[in-house]
Amino acid sequence: MGGVENNEPVSKRVKVSLGDLGGLTNTSTCTEPVLNGLGGRMVKSVPTPAYKEFIGPNGEIKTVEFVRIITKALYSLGYEKSGALLEQESGINLHPSEVNLFRDQVLSGKWDESVATLTKIGIVDENALKSASFLIFQQKFLELLGNKRVMDALNTLRHEITPICIDTKKLRELSSYVVCSSQNGMFGFSCKEMVSQNGRLNLLEEVQKLLPPAVMVPERRLEHLVERALNVQRKDCVFHNSLDGSLSLYSDHQCGKDQIPSQTLQILQDHSDEVWFLQFSSNGKYLASASNDKTAIIWEVPESEEVSLKHKLIGHEQSIVTVAWSPDDGQLLTCGMEGVVRRWDVSTGACLQIYSKAGIGLISCGWSPDGKYIFSGLTDKSICMWDLEGKEHKCWKGQRTFEYLTWWSPKMGNGS
Ligand SMILES: [Zn+2]
Repeated sequence: MGGVENNEPVSKRVKVSLGDLGGLTNTSTCTEPVLNGLGGRMVKSVPTPAYKEFIGPNGEIKTVEFVRIITKALYSLGYEKSGALLEQESGINLHPSEVNLFRDQVLSGKWDESVATLTKIGIVDENALKSASFLIFQQKFLELLGNKRVMDALNTLRHEITPICIDTKKLRELSSYVVCSSQNGMFGFSCKEMVSQNGRLNLLEEVQKLLPPAVMVPERRLEHLVERALNVQRKDCVFHNSLDGSLSLYSDHQCGKDQIPSQTLQILQDHSDEVWFLQFSSNGKYLASASNDKTAIIWEVPESEEVSLKHKLIGHEQSIVTVAWSPDDGQLLTCGMEGVVRRWDVSTGACLQIYSKAGIGLISCGWSPDGKYIFSGLTDKSICMWDLEGKEHKCWKGQRTFEYLTWWSPKMGNGS
């Protein structure tokens, strides 16, 4: 709600004099414009200007909703005069008068009155009403305790909170505050927070969540809509190839074809047969290629110079179908069609380990996120996990193995 972030007490709310309103308020019917910084109070007796019910290129935007979320955003940004002026000039209140009354009652600690007002501001769901009432009485209870009015707090707990409490655990917690308070005057952390000066504002924010959005405009609604618009533009961008930082509100986003690499910079010709698989290392410093020529190559990819051959990995008896970089890019797995996975040291090009299973072929390879285990899909539709030294730790049978693909999920690590 506008201004919930505002920590100023009600007495310090912004007041705009007629003089301050300048040319924006040339209507003669404007009366004392006492405006609050919480987006709550409205100028009275201001004639409602005529405005179109719908706006926008397609006429789909409800003017009232549009103005209200702008007003809300102004208050949220701390532009309280502007927010109040917009309410006045547009004739569109951010909140209905009952909500303003409710806010004032909460902020001035008129708990019983605020609970009575709750029923008038749009909460129709019985459970939501109970929850909101509970939050208010809880605040009342904690503030009474904070003011050392233990008996009054106890009365609130017994006669106001208990009858509507649907959370017995919370009730026990509140009861413990009474004991704690009467013994040594100490509160738990959460209790201290709630009786601080922000407690009532936080309470308002919590109650707002129980209200229909049309009654109180949700927090940061405008920002939410704008971010959604940016996300849609990003997803709709056919040739998207930009960092998110390049998105601007000033124009619709669209990456051009020219941003897609379309010019051959170098041809790597060290394989003697078809290249079947390519993968860059996570740090981008290396490229691994797997080929029908039974070899894999680790290429060095300098930032400015040409890509160069670092190691040719020789040892597989048949074509290599896939490769997988270790999480730290220090090692590489290769999987050959003979059903064997090999683990290689990237710096030396040496083969460190061979993984195989008698009578069954390995057809894919992958790493655990911590780099301590490797996985492979097998031709018998199982998935196996080995430690780096080649000891088989687990094997999940009966799973369908996707072609040349393994994956890792935390659940697999737990054996579930
Ligand atoms: Zn794009």
